[in-house]
Amino acid sequence: MSLALVIGAGPTGMTAAIELKRLGMDVRIIDKGSHIARHSQALVVQARTLEQWQRYGIAEKAVERGRKLTEVKFWSNSKNLVSFELSAIPSRYPYVLFLPQTETEALLNEMMESLGVFTERGTELIAFIQKADGVLARIRHPDGSEEDTAARWLIGCDGARSMVRKTAGITFEGGGVGISFFLADLVLEGPDVPENELALHLHKGDVILLGRLSDKITRLIAAVHSKQDSHTLRELTIKDIQDAIDGAGVQVKVLSSEWMTPFRVNDLQAKHYRSDNVYLAGDASHIHSPVGGQGMNTGIQDIANLAWKLAAVEAGAPESLLDSYEEERAEVGRALLSFTERGLKMATTSNPVLEAARDLLIPHLTQLHAVQKRLLAFISELSINYRSSSIVSDLGGDGSLRAGDRMPDLAINQLIGQRSLLADWTQAEHLAVILNCTDSEIYELTPRLEGVPQVMLNGSQLDEEGLRLLGNDAKLLLVRPDGYVGFRGPVVRAAELEGYMQMVGLHQAIPNLEQAAIRTSRVIERSHLF
Ligand SMILES: Cc1cc2nc3c(=O)[nH]c(=O)nc-3n(C[C@H](O)[C@H](O)[C@H](O)COP(=O)(O)OP(=O)(O)OC[C@H]3O[C@@H](n4cnc5c(N)ncnc54)[C@H](O)[C@@H]3O)c2cc1C
Repeated sequence: MSLALVIGAGPTGMTAAIELKRLGMDVRIIDKGSHIARHSQALVVQARTLEQWQRYGIAEKAVERGRKLTEVKFWSNSKNLVSFELSAIPSRYPYVLFLPQTETEALLNEMMESLGVFTERGTELIAFIQKADGVLARIRHPDGSEEDTAARWLIGCDGARSMVRKTAGITFEGGGVGISFFLADLVLEGPDVPENELALHLHKGDVILLGRLSDKITRLIAAVHSKQDSHTLRELTIKDIQDAIDGAGVQVKVLSSEWMTPFRVNDLQAKHYRSDNVYLAGDASHIHSPVGGQGMNTGIQDIANLAWKLAAVEAGAPESLLDSYEEERAEVGRALLSFTERGLKMATTSNPVLEAARDLLIPHLTQLHAVQKRLLAFISELSINYRSSSIVSDLGGDGSLRAGDRMPDLAINQLIGQRSLLADWTQAEHLAVILNCTDSEIYELTPRLEGVPQVMLNGSQLDEEGLRLLGNDAKLLLVRPDGYVGFRGPVVRAAELEGYMQMVGLHQAIPNLEQAAIRTSRVIERSHLF
């Protein structure tokens, strides 16, 4: 019996195969398509995804293959409303990476195959039933033959029209957006061709977004009121594109097109992300407008949240841990849909009063440091947190970082005068960060953390930002494999620590978690930091 059967080898499905395999699970992945995507929908890779890829060792390759966008410029009726820098994104990747989805998929595919997992192409899931101990799935092979296969878990990464979602009887709730959208990869000339910025041109409810893919090609995404749905009824032409560009007062001329296509936008979310042994992730569980470049990134992070929980349960953690997948990720999906819906409404309003108010407010608001900070943290997906989750445990303490927050990539001063970032030292799957503890506290604590790699720090090793986040009191932080703080508290609260470790399966000292860390990184030794 294959342990996990992943349906769909898009970015979400391949991430599932990678994460599960890294955690030592047996995984099978199928896709009904005969090849990986030839055209790119998603371009934007957010900082949080790059942080996740750093764990697999592919972030630098992605950065090499992509193009860094360092600024966003808003234009309304040909007037530059505001520009803001992306360099304030609080990550080692302080930019938005433009990487065509074809490249993203190629990169994930290389990584997945290097782990010994290969997509079975032309292979379709046609039915499944739930059983007490898993799922029985019927799949059709390229030659038409059918196979019944059992799996412990079925993970539906099969996109917006998800057969897994439908068969599980999970509704997809929400509605459509009544505007015509199209995208095109173009060769352009003219003063408004962007360089390293993302340019958003707004004009009477129409939107033209331009971002440079390569020296030659620029990606255009257009939302156009006036031609509602006419583009979906016939083939798009360069004239349609040029008309939309001219209508928004953007000064560029289309010389040629590599690819253009209309697309529809719906804001839909699955009512549940789980039905017994079946899980939904990526577009199978949420779709929305491409505002902010979030969809693929969110799918990739759905999996980061799910995979370690499956591995932990497989290794003996209580099954209830799995309920937290929907609890944590459906909340993220709801916030995302609300953000993209509001963003799209604001950008596409054709009401002259609202348009004027927006044009007045945007420059003021976005110049406020706090607003900029929040916006950048949201878009880069760094501000996602699980503070209200039932599987995080926060016992209080100083410092603003709480259980449920993303563990930041702390800058750490070492005695020999060097500085390093935490993630350069360790990408251990579970990690204990112990701050400002006395020898006797450490002596008492470490046996309780057996099997969990530990980093011991004192306040003098942290910079101002590190101290703001972690505070100065003696404390213990337990970081989950998806990079979020699961437990924060004083070192003396043994009973609560015990309870937390039981809940997330750390009592079983999940063997493969450590092996995964050793394979992909240097597991930290205490002596490294002292
Ligand atoms: C114009 C546009 C621009 C976008 N830009 C961005 C962006 O910049 N950043 C971003 O993050 N997101 C963006 N998105 C969204 C992004 O493209 C999607 O979120 C992403 O492709 C979803 O990945 P997925 O793996 O979940 O699903 P998909 O990519 O849809 O993959 C699903 C796979 O499942 C397979 N499959 C389906 N049914 C079966 C079955 N029964 N058996 C076997 N296999 C099956 C399919 O063949 C397919 O390969 C954009 C979307 C659009 C339309």
